[in-house]
Amino acid sequence: MMGTTRRSHWIVRMDYRVRTVSFGVSFVFIGAHLWGKDYSPIVWGLLILQFLIYPHLMYWRAQRAPVSLQAELNNLVVDSLLIGLWVAALQFPLWIGFTLFIGSSLNNTISRGTPGFLWAMLAFFSGALMSVALFGWHVAPATGWPVTLLCVIGLSAYLLLIGELAYGRNQKLRDARTQLRLNEQALQQQLDENRALQAQLSEQANRDPLTGLYNRRYLDVTLVRELARCEREGQRLSLMMIDIDHFKRVNDSYGHLAGDEFLKKLATMLNEQARVADVTCRFGGEEFLLLLPNVTQDVALVRAEQWRVAAAAMIVPFEEFRLQATLSIGIAIYPDHGTSPDELICCADQALYRAKTEGRNRVVLFGSETAVTGA
Ligand code: GH3
Ligand code: MG
Ligand code: MG
Repeated sequence: MMGTTRRSHWIVRMDYRVRTVSFGVSFVFIGAHLWGKDYSPIVWGLLILQFLIYPHLMYWRAQRAPVSLQAELNNLVVDSLLIGLWVAALQFPLWIGFTLFIGSSLNNTISRGTPGFLWAMLAFFSGALMSVALFGWHVAPATGWPVTLLCVIGLSAYLLLIGELAYGRNQKLRDARTQLRLNEQALQQQLDENRALQAQLSEQANRDPLTGLYNRRYLDVTLVRELARCEREGQRLSLMMIDIDHFKRVNDSYGHLAGDEFLKKLATMLNEQARVADVTCRFGGEEFLLLLPNVTQDVALVRAEQWRVAAAAMIVPFEEFRLQATLSIGIAIYPDHGTSPDELICCADQALYRAKTEGRNRVVLFGSETAVTGA
């Protein structure tokens, strides 16, 4: 238990204000009704206890309860029971009875809907019955006009107060809903940003930072996937291993930055001449690996030759220099030369090695007797 410092339910706090005010007003018109008649101090004492002290006791009780709202709903039924008792004890004065009955029934209805109203009725009539049993059955419905006027004013003020509270509550609800929508939008925006960032990160993780081509990591995954797809669909796949000839000389003669510049321009050229389905990767250092799905041996040779010629003709300006280098290209075909990534890469590498040993600046297809094309 957290004791009485705990913050109670908002209905408990609202009811406290409503009960204090409405019971205070009731005290005034019941007091006016009893005024001048010969009632004992005990009756006045009970009146003070019921209409001036009781609201505070009920609030205190609800606050102390483990579930303040449930205690308050019970309080409202107790209100109706005691009101019934008072109305019968006062001998059913019409205006006072109506005002008190409608007031307590309204409170119960606001909190619990129709069942609340039914509970209020039951409690009210039970209270009235208890009173009749205690004090007998006396009916004197007439009230003087000052009391009637006080009841009319009191009831009107009470109804307006309820209206005002309902308005305030609605306003708060609208504000909360607007805030919720704004928070939701902000959250959605953050989610979109995160998603974009994630996509950017995974794209970056698959790219080589210098050339922007796919990296080895991406190639390893893609080659397995592409080979599986080719097997399913009965397609071929050409794999080209490209190595720059005497690239060390470029670095040695013009510096590493010049070498980098050449790598970037070469990567751009490889990419520009690639088709949508082709995958261009930087395999490592100055070696590139190209996957050409659904490309036969003859087409692969033609396209490799195009790349070789284009590279040979490419001049990369760097500072006051004009960088130039040729390419050696080794080709392996799935499934003719191998079916696994390792087998195919090994075959393309062997073909590349032969291109190098046979004089560089040429294209060699794995397994062929001599370089099929070349300078
Ligand atoms: P060949 O392939 O024709 O046999 O001769 P090569 O000189 O190209 O062969 P090698 O593999 O011996 O040298 C490759 C050179 O590529 C060595 C290295 O300095 C250079 N290299 C590798 N990665 C980079 C890079 O990212 N930037 C630069 N500028 N150079 C690189
Ligand atoms: Mg090399
Ligand atoms: Mg090389």
